[in-house]
Parts: sequence; structure tokens; C-alpha cells
Amino acid sequence: MPRHTISYESYASPEELTTEDRGLLQAAKAVLPNSYSPYSKFKVAAAARLEDGTIVTGWNIENAAYPMCICAEPVTLAAAASQRPGMAVVAMAITVKSANQVLDQPASPCGSCRQQLTEHESRFGKKMKLILQGEEGPVFIFGSAGDILPFGFSAKQL
Ligand SMILES: [Zn+2]
Repeated sequence: MPRHTISYESYASPEELTTEDRGLLQAAKAVLPNSYSPYSKFKVAAAARLEDGTIVTGWNIENAAYPMCICAEPVTLAAAASQRPGMAVVAMAITVKSANQVLDQPASPCGSCRQQLTEHESRFGKKMKLILQGEEGPVFIFGSAGDILPFGFSAKQL
């Protein structure tokens, strides 16, 4: 039987991360208040590190017409594309804060975001490290966005 396994790193707190990864996570946390999430009251923020070291941030933007809500990840990818056209995002830190509870575990990107993150990886031929943390608690690091979208759809199938 074929098997698919993924591996990821789990750190008890950001203090255990490298300076670079901790800084990216801090950059995401710093922009959480910018989240426009009056309906879900679920703030999400992301910070992307580009190939040249530039850090670009983004957050979720909701809308009274609910399907138009935009996740933090595509906002961040779009900001990166606008500010540094043609440059790959090589790492993204994503963090969340809920008005309803203290999230002490990382929240994973939704399926739509996984698709967009892996398309970015395919487009640039570079893996994007993901650094995930809730409001507090452990930090999960995945070496590639593709790790959390096994058997994903790609342009190879078109
Ligand atoms: Zn999403």
C-alpha cells in the first residue's frame, strides 16, 4: 500500500526558533490589529519573507457579503507580488487571534490558501517554509506549503 507521510517541526515557544524565523513571526503578530474581521472576530495575519530578505505583511479582510472575505495569505501574496514583482516568497509566518477563545495551537491555512501557496511554490520552483502559531503555545514549522496539501491540483494536470 502506498503511504504518504509529512514531517514538521514543533517548538514549545518562539524563543526556540532561529532569529530569522522568530522575527518573521513577530512581524506577523505585530500587524494582527490591522485585521478587518468584524464578522468572525477571528484575526489572521501573515508575514512573508522574500528571496531578497524583504518582509511583507498582510491580514484577513472580511466583507458583509461573506463569500468576498479574503484570507491573510492571499492578501500577503498579493502585497508581495505588488511590491516585488517576480520575486519568490520563501517563508511565511501565519498567526491568529480569536475574540472567542485563547488559541493555544496553530491554526492551519484553509484549503483555498493551501492551493494558492502551493501554486506560488510551483511558479517559482522554490519551497515556502510555513511558520504557524496560535495566540500562544507551540510553533509548527513546515518545510514546504506543499507538505500540507498532499495530492494537490496543479497546472501539470491541465
Ligand atoms: Zn484561507
